[in-house]
Amino acid sequence: MSETHAPEEPFLGAAPRPALRPPARDAEGRIDLRSLERAELERFLVDELEETPGRALRVFKALWQHGATSIEDLPGVGKSVRAKLAKRAFLSELVPATVQHSEDGTTKYLWRLADGYTIESVLIPDDGRLTLCMSSQVGCAMACSFCLTGDMGLKRHLRPSEIALQPLRVAQGLPKGVRITNLVLMGMGEPLHNLDNLVTALRICMDDHGLNLSHRKITVSTVGLAPQLAELAARLPVNLAVSINASHDAQRKQIMPITRKHSLAELMEACRRFPLDRGRRITFEYVMFDGFNDTEADAERLLALLEGVPSKLNLIPYNPNPDRALMPPPMERVRAFQHWFVTRGVACSVRSTRGQDISAACGQLGKAGAPKAARDIVAG
Ligand code: SAH
Repeated sequence: MSETHAPEEPFLGAAPRPALRPPARDAEGRIDLRSLERAELERFLVDELEETPGRALRVFKALWQHGATSIEDLPGVGKSVRAKLAKRAFLSELVPATVQHSEDGTTKYLWRLADGYTIESVLIPDDGRLTLCMSSQVGCAMACSFCLTGDMGLKRHLRPSEIALQPLRVAQGLPKGVRITNLVLMGMGEPLHNLDNLVTALRICMDDHGLNLSHRKITVSTVGLAPQLAELAARLPVNLAVSINASHDAQRKQIMPITRKHSLAELMEACRRFPLDRGRRITFEYVMFDGFNDTEADAERLLALLEGVPSKLNLIPYNPNPDRALMPPPMERVRAFQHWFVTRGVACSVRSTRGQDISAACGQLGKAGAPKAARDIVAG
């Protein structure tokens, strides 16, 4: 399938990147059927194929509830509709390249896309929940100094289909009766940099006739693209997580270049305006680095930043990556930091590192290879 790609706006004033937004249609004008949310699919069938809304619903269910893999085989959809679709539409697919199981129960999926790029998803069982950590882009433009995905730069945005196929295909491989309970957009990429495609994908995930997941169980994590927070809230009722990672601008600029564009003050103002249902809170992720952002002065500044925002703080001891001087603090310091917040009435948890033996932990996605401890299964 050959496609034309429109160049993207460069980020942070950097040199133009080969960042690509795959078009909704291929060179033959066929539409990516799985990149349409239900209302769009209905419009396509009614307006362009002169079909009925009822038939559109059957196509949607065949795609998302039966997990159809080809237009020729759409359960419950008649032959004439399939023939029309075959001429006017195509299905993008995620081809499983490898599945790795960690000793702690975490599973990492490596998917190959039609153009040869690969992305990852991580399935994490925890406390009765089964959470899928999903990717939103191939690579990432945000260039956070501590994150391996950032080293790749942005290769391209994921299509809505490529985002929503991650929970679909993972769910299909689970034992009978086992369901994904939560989705977190904490894999490769910056979800709010690919907002349109993210919104479509998550609407499919939340649709009763789609993957039927509750919006309360979906969390979008961002480096803090402040202007996009309001847009996200206007379009989707999902939970928000913000990777704050520092207690003042100068410190944050050293590790997160996005701070040059959106200061912490601007970010926190956007958080204060973020509409929250009663009892809901914004999660602030704070990756802890030894001797960099782990002092009492940091804690005091961070507490001041959170003022006026219903918040939960999630401390993440840094998962060391090669070629970085950074290290995680000793665990006692992480616990002391947590204790400092808890005694001041702030809900504060420490994220346990999961899947480190298979490079599935935070900030490790995109790393080639895995140590021997991992049990590699090459999917056939
Ligand atoms: N771009 C989004 C989502 C992807 S990263 C965001 O930044 O929120 C998900 C989380 O992993 C972020 O909180 C990020 O700060 C954290 N992270 C990245 N690299 C890490 C590393 N090496 N160790 C621990 N956490 C890391």
